[in-house]
Amino acid sequence: MKYSRTIMSLSPSATLQLSAKAKELKKSGRDIVSLTAGQPDFPTPAPIAQAGIKAIMDGKTGYTPSTGIPELKEAVAESYSLRRNIEWNSSNVVVSCGAKHDLANLVRAAVNPGDRVLLPRPYWVSYPEMVKASGGIPVLPEKRLDPCEILKAADLGAVGLLLNYPSNPSGYVPSSDEMSRIADAIADTDMWVISDDIYEDLVYTEGAVPHILDYRPELSSRTAVVSGVSKTFAMTGWRIGYSLANREWSKLSGILQAHSTSNPCSISQWAALAAVEGKADKEKREMYRSFRDRRDMICSKLSDVEGIQFDRPEGAFYVFPRLPAVNDTAGFCSELLDEEGLAVIPGSAFGAEGYIRLSFAASDDDIREGVNRLNRFLRRRYTV
Ligand code: PMP
Ligand code: GLU
Repeated sequence: MKYSRTIMSLSPSATLQLSAKAKELKKSGRDIVSLTAGQPDFPTPAPIAQAGIKAIMDGKTGYTPSTGIPELKEAVAESYSLRRNIEWNSSNVVVSCGAKHDLANLVRAAVNPGDRVLLPRPYWVSYPEMVKASGGIPVLPEKRLDPCEILKAADLGAVGLLLNYPSNPSGYVPSSDEMSRIADAIADTDMWVISDDIYEDLVYTEGAVPHILDYRPELSSRTAVVSGVSKTFAMTGWRIGYSLANREWSKLSGILQAHSTSNPCSISQWAALAAVEGKADKEKREMYRSFRDRRDMICSKLSDVEGIQFDRPEGAFYVFPRLPAVNDTAGFCSELLDEEGLAVIPGSAFGAEGYIRLSFAASDDDIREGVNRLNRFLRRRYTV
């Protein structure tokens, strides 16, 4: 049988693959510490779970409108209109099966074969594959994103740009000056922007993350915002994300969704409504404080590991150290797993060879033990 050349050119998701492999090894009895998964290790807060149970008991188990129940779309539009000071309503919102699905829909709706899309490095693992799945060409600048890179890419025909702050894998948050210059550069081009804001509520610095729409609100006509409940409310398995975009872009995403998945799970939508309406804000604050404390702990432990360099992450739940003289991080991670039973993600999955990503969405014990194992492995490797 012949398969699609486009789909055959895609790489598997290293994040999902390695998390699954670590789980499998653990199940088979091996002593494994996994700092792979980018998902909270807390249960979904009870008020949200109860809203899901109530939806089942109330029989809200049939198809819903394919882009989501009106109640959730209205709540998302209201909450993000306030947050970003942009006037959005339900017709701008699509509720999908996770933020990943929203991103895939939006990319699919905007990219034509041969279109170039700018993806600043380090990028989240799925962005290049989403662009390629539409026949597009990822453009990966060598340096950190700056106005010159944007203008250069636009001159070379790039049609769009994906932004993700706080960043997965680095936890990087741009300064307001940096974001304002990025917004100005975009405004000088015709490029569309997708701002993946999934970690917007996991920020450990003072104040909000500078957002492109704060500086250039007029860019809302060609900027889509993507977020969801997975990370902030420990709801990764419920599969609910949402996007806010201009009406045409949202309509096209909605048509694509109607012909592929139909609506996201009805029960999950009612549970997500409880989250968006603030019914679990106390639990959200508690989980946030745990992630902030773990960020401090992993940074303090890593600062005792000789030879690695890292920037303190200002958001999300990842730290992204640079290794001493390693050119094959996939090989490094595989040996680390074999010899020490520590699973982490190679930087190559994020377009950053020479780095590894450690998730601190893990227990304090796993974080401590994980860094000890990394330290031991590096000492053995670099001590003659
Ligand atoms: N964007 C980024 C940067 C992520 O790390 C993730 C994590 N999975 C997603 C999107 C997708 O989130 P979801 O689980 O809601 O699909
Ligand atoms: N986003 C998470 C991560 O980067 C979960 C895995 C995935 O969806 O790729 O680890």
